[in-house]
Formats: sequence, structure tokens, C-alpha cells
Amino acid sequence: MYFRCGLTLLYKSLYTPIGRTPQPIWDSLSRSLVLSPQRRIPEFNSFVARTNTCGELRSSHLGQEVTLCGWIQYRRQNMFLVLRDFHGLVQVIIPQEESAASVKKILCEAPVESVVQVSGTVISRPPGQENPKMPTGEIEIKVKTAELLNSCKKLPFEIKDFVKKTEALRLRYRYLDLRSSQMQYNLRLRSQMVMKMREYLCNLHGFVDIETPTLFKKTPGGAKEFVVPSREPGKFYSLPQSPQQFKQLLMVGGLDRYFQVARCYRDEGSRPDRQPEFTQIDIEMSFVDQTGIQSLIEGLLQYSWPKDKDPVVVPFPSMTFAEALSTYGTDKPDTRFGMKIVDISDVFRNTKIGFLQDVLNKPQGTIKAICIPEGAKYLQRKDIETIRKFATEQFNQEVLPVFLKANRNWNSPVAKSIMEEQRLGLIRLLEIQEEDVVLLTAGEHKETCSLLGKLRLECADLLEARGVVLRDPALFSFLWVVDFPLFLPKEENPGELESAHHPFTAPHPSDIHLLYTEPEKVRSQHYDLVLNGSEIGGGSIRIHNAELQHYVLATLLKEDVKLLSHLLQALDYGAPPHGGIALGLDRLICLITGAASIRDVIAFPKSFQGHDLMSNVPDYIPPEELKPYHIQVSRPADSEAEKSLLNHPPHPES
Ligand code: ASP
Repeated sequence: MYFRCGLTLLYKSLYTPIGRTPQPIWDSLSRSLVLSPQRRIPEFNSFVARTNTCGELRSSHLGQEVTLCGWIQYRRQNMFLVLRDFHGLVQVIIPQEESAASVKKILCEAPVESVVQVSGTVISRPPGQENPKMPTGEIEIKVKTAELLNSCKKLPFEIKDFVKKTEALRLRYRYLDLRSSQMQYNLRLRSQMVMKMREYLCNLHGFVDIETPTLFKKTPGGAKEFVVPSREPGKFYSLPQSPQQFKQLLMVGGLDRYFQVARCYRDEGSRPDRQPEFTQIDIEMSFVDQTGIQSLIEGLLQYSWPKDKDPVVVPFPSMTFAEALSTYGTDKPDTRFGMKIVDISDVFRNTKIGFLQDVLNKPQGTIKAICIPEGAKYLQRKDIETIRKFATEQFNQEVLPVFLKANRNWNSPVAKSIMEEQRLGLIRLLEIQEEDVVLLTAGEHKETCSLLGKLRLECADLLEARGVVLRDPALFSFLWVVDFPLFLPKEENPGELESAHHPFTAPHPSDIHLLYTEPEKVRSQHYDLVLNGSEIGGGSIRIHNAELQHYVLATLLKEDVKLLSHLLQALDYGAPPHGGIALGLDRLICLITGAASIRDVIAFPKSFQGHDLMSNVPDYIPPEELKPYHIQVSRPADSEAEKSLLNHPPHPES
């Protein structure tokens, strides 16, 4: 069962002693457990009434007098009770003798999920009654005393992994949901990884853990920020989207190796892998270059990686932004599988197919394709229709499917117009096998790549839904994406530029001259870390020259430099060269644990709509409480607001 194995593995994999060389200690740990229970690492029973955790008792504990505290998982025929804590399950025998009537009463009457303390002896189960599926299955507890610590009312849902519940219900009763083995595993693994990261950064590499303010100032560009009213009329704080400015200022302040488990805030609306408040492992270093930061992060992940997962292999491969786009159609390629985008323009130079001809006659026109292995076997006609519809609606592009049937016939709306030579060219470039499907599209480079990148992922999902194993769930495929452009055309106004990363990113040394002539062609010293197709980190070497920073902000990005005068000023006072990175902790843990959403690795997350369903925020504030902030709100339905203030009912959100 997940609970028992998951947590056992977790402890096994994470509790290694602090030191220069991490060594698996489980063997010596279990030995020390046998020899001397006091020498365990960590000590789960210090300072409390219990002597042991429920999940740890084995035959080696036979005869020991133990005190356990836990929740009643279930009870059988008023004879047995299974007690649960974060460490596992243990069977307790309910005494039947007359003399133990009061103990029996407590244990038989307490509802499931009540919390109890029991004391008794570890005994072996009668022969034949051992439960090999349960780590504690050889023993049981013969209870002498029991105390009901607190009773449990009727639950809104059962705390059993197999009982399905909606996410809204889980979030509304998060404190109960946290009792699930899944949430216990995720949060404990998260805590242990962060601990190892601290060890690696502070103890092994001399980083300093520094907290930076969360009441700050609006930053130009980037994500939308939450604002916090102040008592000064019309003045607001902003919640920082990251500690970016502070960490750079710390470098100016001589704290040359900074790190923080930093809370960040972005008012970006709902997205499946985003939260309005989230956590970054935020890092900055002086006197470092791109390779230095990359090696640091590779070492950090290798050191903190759970030992029950396949080990992290370093160095991570690296790919330029241009290559990622042309081969995978995205800046965060999932490199666990092929189906790469191939430029087949040359094959069709003399084509008679109208729309391909038209595209190739345009200056930026290209024809590209992906080959879906065994697509003819697994993709249905309706899938292809959906794909074509998606391409026209979202990308204004046509997609031509070509099926290669087992009888070697090509099946496509344009099959007849594909000449033999073109056919051979396609087979060679795309390495087409029987039963494959080729999806072909034509248009401008970036658009065709983006479309095929999306279709590649879509088709991978479809194939996997039909039983094909494309992406090994045990595989962690890291990738550095480098050489990003420094600027991108603004989406809403392509004539203007915006930073591809953020305005503090330094240009690539060999492109600096272009800043003054063709800024859109400048590459940057920005690097992203991608894991299994998700961006889990990003950073850059920074501009440490005030004049250059001013030029980028004022002339190229047309930002109001007054907002950043403190930073510009600081750069002028002997700012060291520096660079850094931030890892998205929630996403990283989500990928490692295989959780369905980042909400499953955060103790109290917001719902998809940004609400806390348990405490009902955001919520109304009475007008008189808003007065000190000089804020007046015109509410859509004042009477409803009043009602909400009185009753605080939970949000009906699903
Ligand atoms: N502050 C950046 C971010 O949040 C990361 C960095 O450049 O270090 O994306």
C-alpha cells in the first residue's frame, strides 16, 4: 500500500547524516534501531508521550512496553483496531476481559478518526495471522491502558486513499485531507528535500540564508503584482513577484552567496501549474558565470534528490533556445521521447500541391512535419479531425495527415500529388516506418514549430491514453535551455520590445554591440532549467553596469527608470559581477512525487480560481475597516456582501 511503502521509502531515502559525502544510511540506521532505539535519526518520539510511532514496530520489538498515539483507522468486530500515524499502521487488540472493561469501552466506542493514546506490550500475531502486506504485520499490541484524546465527529469524507473525493471538498477540509498518505508523503518529501538543499548550499558551499521583504514596490515589466494598501492616502505596497532586486542588492552589499526559500506572488489568474503565491529556491552569487550557476544547480539537485528515485545524472544536457524551438516547438522541450520536428521544405521544392507551393514562395515559408510512431494503429479519424481543427482555429494553419499503412500505401488527401522522389525523401528525413502517421504543416518558421510542438504533445497524450508507453514515469529528463534572445517583440505591440527573462539580464558578451543597432538580435545570458517538459527554473547573469542597465531600461524597454533608481544607484557603487537562478519548488516537488497538480504539494493552496476554500478568502472587509486605507469599494451586490460578512459561508466552488 502506498502509505506504508511510500513513507518507509521516504524516510529510507531522505534521512542521511549531514556530511560531505552522502551515504545511504538505512542499513546502519536499521541496525542502530535494533541495538539502541535511542540512536535513531531522526528521533520521532522525543519530548512527547509516545515511545514509538505506529509504523515502526517489528518482531525486534517483541516484549517491549510501548505507548502509541494515533488515529483510529478502522475497527473489526470490536476485537481489533488499526491505529495510524504519519509513519504507518499497527494492529491493536481490544481487551475482552471483564477487568479491562473501561479500556474496551474507550476503544470500541470512539468513532473512526478519533485520536487515542494506548499503552501495552508488543506481541507476535498468532501463527497464520501475520499480514505480510503490512510492515508491522508480524506483531500487534496487547493493550493495557487507553485514553481517548479527542473524539471525531462524522467526517465529510473518509480518510482512505481509495475513497474518491472532489478537489473542492479536499480543499475545504484541507486539515483532513492532509491526513491522507499522499499528502503526508508529498509534504514530508518536500521538507526533506529543502533540508538537503539548505545543507548543500549553506554547509557545503557557504551560502547565506537571508529573508527579504514581502512588502515592496511595484516593479516594471514582468508579471502582475498584488497590491497592499497603506495608511498613506493613495499609496500602496506591492507583493514581490520574486526577490530579484533584493538579491542583486545583497551582492552589492557583499553577501556574495545568497539563498532563500522565498515566497513569491503573482496575480496572473488561474493556470493549472501556477499558484498566486508560490515558493522559489532563490539563489544569487557574485563573481560567477553561467557554467558556475549550472554546475551549482546540478550539484544541488543531485545532493537533495530522493534516494528512492533514479539518481540524477550530471551534467545536464544543454540546448539553445533556437534549437529547442525548431526541434520541439517550445522553449521547454519534453526530451523523454522523440517525434521531433523536421524541416522538409527541400523535399517539396518542386511540389504541385498548391498551398505548399504558396508557402514556399514566401520569404520565410517552410514546410515541417512530425512523425508519430504507430500513429496509424492508435490515432482515430476523429483525433485527426480534432488536430486539424485545432490547427486552423488556434494557428490559422492547415495540417496534412499522411498515414503509412501496413500495405505500404499512403493515405492522405494529397497522397496522389506526392511524387515518388518526395516520398523517399520524406521516409529518409522522418525515418518513417509502416503504421506511422506524418503530420505536415506549412507556414512561417516560428508558427509551424509552435503548432507542431503542441501537436507533438497532444499526440503523445493520445498514444499514452491508448496504452503506448512513450514517457517512462521513472525517468527524469533535465535540460538546460540557453542562448535565449534578450528581448522579444511585445505581444500587444510587436513594434516594441520586452525582456524575454527580466530587464536585469545581461546580454551575451559577443552580442553587446548589437544592443545599439539591432537589439532584437541580441542573445542573452539567460538559462532555463527544464524537467520533463516543464520549466522548473530560470536565471541569468545580470547587468552590473549602471549605464548599461539604464540604457536597457530607458531606451530599449521604455520603462520608468525612477521606479528603479535605488538599483541603478547601487550598481554605481562597486557592484560585483553577479548572476543567479530561481527554482520553482512547487513544480519540482510535483514532478518528483508525480502529483496530479502543484496544489498537491502545497499544504494550503489556493483553488484554481485563487480562493482559499477553507477560510473563504478573498473576502469582503467592512467599509469602516477600509477607511484607514482611504479605500472605498463599490460592490456589485452590497446586500450579498453583508450576508457574507455575517455568515462566512464557504465558497461553492468546484
Ligand atoms: N527572479 C527570477 C525569476 O523569478 C529568477 C532569476 O533571474 O534569478 O524568474
